Order: sequence, then structure tokens, then C-alpha cells
Amino acid sequence: MKLTALSCETMFALRQFSHLFFPQVCVSCGDKLLVQEKCICLKCIFKLPKTNNFKETDNALEMLMAGRMPFERIASFCLYSKKGVLAPMMQYLKYRNRDDIGVLLGKMYGEDLRGSDFLQPIDIIVPVPLHQKKLKQRGYNQAEMIAKGLSEATSISISTENLVRTIHNPTQTKLDKSRRWENVKEIFDVKNPGQFENKHILLVDDIITTGSTLEACGVALQECNNLKISVAAIGQVL
Ligand SMILES: [Zn+2]
Repeated sequence: MKLTALSCETMFALRQFSHLFFPQVCVSCGDKLLVQEKCICLKCIFKLPKTNNFKETDNALEMLMAGRMPFERIASFCLYSKKGVLAPMMQYLKYRNRDDIGVLLGKMYGEDLRGSDFLQPIDIIVPVPLHQKKLKQRGYNQAEMIAKGLSEATSISISTENLVRTIHNPTQTKLDKSRRWENVKEIFDVKNPGQFENKHILLVDDIITTGSTLEACGVALQECNNLKISVAAIGQVL
């Protein structure tokens, strides 16, 4: 008991020491983080514009995707806007090697979803895959990091090998809606459809913009018999 207490104290002292020389800052507002804060300060966490739309059927995301793919439920953690508090977090996650932010956001969302009707029927968490080429460039799949956090908070396992991206497509950010769809259709594939048979999967993505990536995943997943799909994202641009 004494030993554990001692090592905790030592760890705390070491962290304080490292904070003194390498102060960690909040990725969103740039303020110095307190020792107990990780990546994002508490003030910014409180400012996150949560949608809580997992409690609301026929929410804006479900209206967006209706008729485009079969789904049970769709929800996102927060509203996303270029100048909002979530934007710098996503920037760091996608372009500045901060995979820990994805895990943290996934964990926070998982804690909100835990015990909900939205989460209750889910068997497996499936992150939207990145192509191998992009994976090599970035070093990790940001959707997988979010899925990892969700899994940690909910104890639902993740599948990363079965839904795959077969074609490398150029970045979508500058394309309009119809060109985005041209860009993503038929780029996903399911390696072993039997693995998802009779399952309810939670497809996980970082931000839902036009929904074309989800739609393309939905098309590929139609190969699996009696599969139910729900979707969770961190941000929605709506
Ligand atoms: Zn902050």
C-alpha cells in the first residue's frame, strides 16, 4: 500500500516536473494544461457543442442519409464548424500526429452513449477504413482512434480488418457533393461477409459532411446477410 502511494507521488512529481520544462497546451485554445488535463482543457471540453442526437430519432443526420443507405440509427457527438472549438482538435488529429485526441474524443462520446438505447443493440464497432497508402502517410487511421476510445468506454470490440478500402481516392475536401460521390462509390469492400452476418455494427467516422463516404460503406456492406448498421461520428457539418 505504502509502495503504491509512494510511486503515485513520484509519478505526480515527475509529471509536474516535465510540465515545468515542457508545458503541455490545450490543442483547442492554447492555454497551458493542468497536470490532470490531457490534450484538451476542461474549459474547452465544456464548450464542445454536443448534439445529444443519439436520443433523437429522425435527427438531421438520419434525415440526411434516409433513402441513401439502410441504417438503424445515426448520431454525432458534436456540431462541427470551421471556427468552432472542435475544429482545431480535428486538425491535430488528422494532420498533426495527435492520434491521442481521437482516442480521447471517442472515449468521451462512449461515456455519453454508455447505457443508451442507441448503443445497447451494437455488436461490433467498425471504423471507416483508410487506404493503405493514406495509412502509411498518416501513420494511423483517425476513425480507428475514435473507435478505440469508444471501445474503451463501452467494452464493445472493434473490427478493423473486414471492411476495407480498395481504391485510394484523392482528398475530398475541395469537391462538391456530386463529385464526392463519384469519388467514393465502389471504393470499399467486405473481405468476409459472413463475419458481419446477423450483426449490428456501429460504423465510426470522424466528421459527417455530405454522407457520401458512409453511403459508399453502406453499399459495400450490403453483401452481408441480415446486417444492421448504425453510425457514430465525432462531428457533423449541418
Ligand atoms: Zn482549451
